[in-house]
Amino acid sequence: MQVYSYPDPGTWPALQLRPAAAEAPQVAARVRSIFEQVRERGDAALLSLATELDKATLTSLLVSEAEFAAAAAQVPAELQAAIRQAKTNIETFHRAQREPELQVETMPGVACSRRAVPVQRVGLYVPGGTAPLFSTLLMLGVPARLAGCPEVVVCTPPQPDGSVSPVILFVAQLLGIDKVVKAGGAQAVAALAIGTVAVPAVDKIFGPGNRYVTAAKQLAAAEFGVAIDMPAGPSEVLVIADGSANPAFVAADLLSQAEHGPDSQVVLLSDSPTIIEQVKAELDRQLASLPRRDVAAQALANSRAVLLADAVTMLAFSNQYAPEHLILATDNAETLAVQVVNAGSVFLGHLTPEAVGDYASGTNHTLPTSGYARQYSGVSLDSFVKKITFQRLSPVGLQALGPLVETMADAEGLAAHARAVTLRLEALAARPAPKAEQSAPAADNPYAGLIRPSVERMQPYSSARDEFEGMAPVMLDANENSLGSVGPDDFSRYPDPHQRAIKTDLARLKGVEPANIFLGNGSDEAIDLLVRLTCTPGKDSIVVCPPTYGMYEVAANLNDVKVERLPLTADFQLPANAAEVLAASSAKVVFLCSPNNPTGNLLAEAALETILRTFRGIVVVDEAYADFAAAPSWTTRLAEFPRLVVLQTFSKAWGLAGLRLGVAYAAPKLIEYFNKIKPPYNISAATQQHALVALADAPRLPELQAELLSGRALLAEELPALPIVEHVFPSDANFLLVRFNVDATGLYDQLRARGIVVRNRTNQPGCAGCLRLTVGTADENVQLLQALAEIGAELPAAVAAR
Ligand SMILES: *Cc1c(COP(=O)(O)O)cnc(C)c1O
Repeated sequence: MQVYSYPDPGTWPALQLRPAAAEAPQVAARVRSIFEQVRERGDAALLSLATELDKATLTSLLVSEAEFAAAAAQVPAELQAAIRQAKTNIETFHRAQREPELQVETMPGVACSRRAVPVQRVGLYVPGGTAPLFSTLLMLGVPARLAGCPEVVVCTPPQPDGSVSPVILFVAQLLGIDKVVKAGGAQAVAALAIGTVAVPAVDKIFGPGNRYVTAAKQLAAAEFGVAIDMPAGPSEVLVIADGSANPAFVAADLLSQAEHGPDSQVVLLSDSPTIIEQVKAELDRQLASLPRRDVAAQALANSRAVLLADAVTMLAFSNQYAPEHLILATDNAETLAVQVVNAGSVFLGHLTPEAVGDYASGTNHTLPTSGYARQYSGVSLDSFVKKITFQRLSPVGLQALGPLVETMADAEGLAAHARAVTLRLEALAARPAPKAEQSAPAADNPYAGLIRPSVERMQPYSSARDEFEGMAPVMLDANENSLGSVGPDDFSRYPDPHQRAIKTDLARLKGVEPANIFLGNGSDEAIDLLVRLTCTPGKDSIVVCPPTYGMYEVAANLNDVKVERLPLTADFQLPANAAEVLAASSAKVVFLCSPNNPTGNLLAEAALETILRTFRGIVVVDEAYADFAAAPSWTTRLAEFPRLVVLQTFSKAWGLAGLRLGVAYAAPKLIEYFNKIKPPYNISAATQQHALVALADAPRLPELQAELLSGRALLAEELPALPIVEHVFPSDANFLLVRFNVDATGLYDQLRARGIVVRNRTNQPGCAGCLRLTVGTADENVQLLQALAEIGAELPAAVAAR
């Protein structure tokens, strides 16, 4: 290692020269000839080049199933465990790089969005040769898998016996990659770029390699329309070590880079002559005991130690060199890190060797070399996706933006561009104006501003049953108990998180699409999720129309969401100004219950329709009792109203309250939001199994309903005859709200003393003196009537008082 003391900045470029640069032309010519061979002879060229360059006689280019099967047994358990942890860390860091779809309305009616879509076919080059770099397969395979690339091909050079390192095969299996080609060097890159029988052509080639691989990737990019991750070359590290550095650590870091290959480069910068001397001594000492000392020694011969005045100068040198790896072996590494502008990956402090990033910390080790850190990033999840932009103009958007584009196109003299706008503007002008006085800003995205920002941003939790659907012979991904269940029935497996079977049957029964359906653990879960989906705690509000179902407020309170009240009229209908009040409200959701609980009546259709047209938030129509009413369900209007959510439940008409199964029907996009935030297995396997049986039994429903309705008719007829009954409200549900002319709470207590429990609603707004009576069996109904008659008879004074 040569030492340079205080060199003039004018001489820095010479000190920063990479060793490989000199012989580039010969390399390029050799690579070009290899491409020609592969193009002309395909797999045959790969086989003969394997013999010539890898000294391997191959019978097949592809790794066989038998080779895969034998691999794991040859990898020590300790190494397997280390690889698994590294994979987890790399996954964690790269998964966090996922970005949600970007949606921006640049001006009213001009909706722009951007979505990441995986590169469809990727080739991963994994160096073998002197050291099989299975870690490279982790670094490339993990993000390829996370990005969702449908085709992943791995190329790696064969060993002289024709095999591929079992560790590489073990990692491939861990990642679910089954196409591993025994080809290395420029010929592998050529095959990936051109395509042969055994090796499919790919869209993008990744992976580090020697000068030949690098030159081959550049040729592939320049002449074969293939993208490459970056122009990678021999590995390099630059260490900035001040007086606080530990010379043994620094020397070890330099050697860990040097042992990669004879053309690796290491650079040491220090402002301390003592440190440079100590590091040199350590290098000699440590080199002696390295198995790859010949390689490392050659690399060191190409390398330099530079003594510079201070930290500022060292950083200036480093930024000009743009190292692949930069180690800041100083006490104040964080402060220096702020000033780093060119580097692939930076290692801070005395306890962070480059080696951790090479293998297992989580960051990617495929990084720009040869000074490309000036303009390239290392490999990341982004390297495996393209970001596609989308845009859609509404009439309002076209009218606003169109004329500007016409002006700009005219100015550039591009008449066809202008016409593409003009024709559309004319067509719009010729169209009759839409009925609604102004097109709502939400015409393009009906949920703009409605979904809680933290929900828009979040990544949905991906359960084991999301990542692997269906069954394999061996299912060891969800920590289930493969041995079976305690108890008589087998519930050892997690249920289908998407409840597809139920949705298919229910959709058919209700005349909607499966994509319109969300299933909740009771409709109470759907209510809670809807509040959480839309409302930011402490900020947003919902609207309820009392007297109504209590769970809406409970969900709001639980989530620290304000409740605005829009009381129903004396006959329990929406007030005349309801639509107006709601249109002026910034509430995220209005809960309407029809037939309403506890009043039993349907809400007038016209009032609901106006609200659906004018309210900017979500309109929930809770139809828990719809099966008892004659009116059609609002599920028939889903296509018309994207912000409509209809709730139904298996708890009432179906007689399955114990099953805990509720349904939200809405536009598919809104259902997707529900799915994004729901607990993964919210509907148990027992519930799913039973619901399917119940759905098959749906033809029995009308009979059940008819019986309940006749019970309701009987009660509605008999109750008014009782002297303590003041009014029986008309009901479209399986209960009756009844106003008594005696103290309702006292009456409730007396009924309860006789073993009859009803619901006391006297404290609900507009319900003074009221009990809610559920229609029961014929016998229960008679018992209720009798008890009310008897209690009434014992209360002559109260009745007389009226
Ligand atoms: C009973 C009832 C429900 C049903 O809730 P589940 O959680 O499905 O049992 C929903 N809404 C209203 C108005 C109800 O009365």
